[in-house]
Amino acid sequence: MVGQGRVLRIEMLGAYVTRPPTADLCLVCLECHAVQLIENPALRVIYTDAIGRRFRLAATPVEAGGLCATCADAASV
Ligand SMILES: [Zn+2]
Repeated sequence: MVGQGRVLRIEMLGAYVTRPPTADLCLVCLECHAVQLIENPALRVIYTDAIGRRFRLAATPVEAGGLCATCADAASV
């Protein structure tokens, strides 16, 4: 359930993945749609700072779109 934190909706893909207990950044490959969930305490500091500024993030973990290593290698051939 999304509301209970077990499933994470990937907004860029309109898809769902199982949410690990801690995930601070979501890397989304825009080519093959592979998703990597990254744990990084430094990002939690940024999220806490945003909350302190009374800014409500649209989604956490924040999503970053790009190319995974496999797709980046294929694109550079
Ligand atoms: Zn890829």
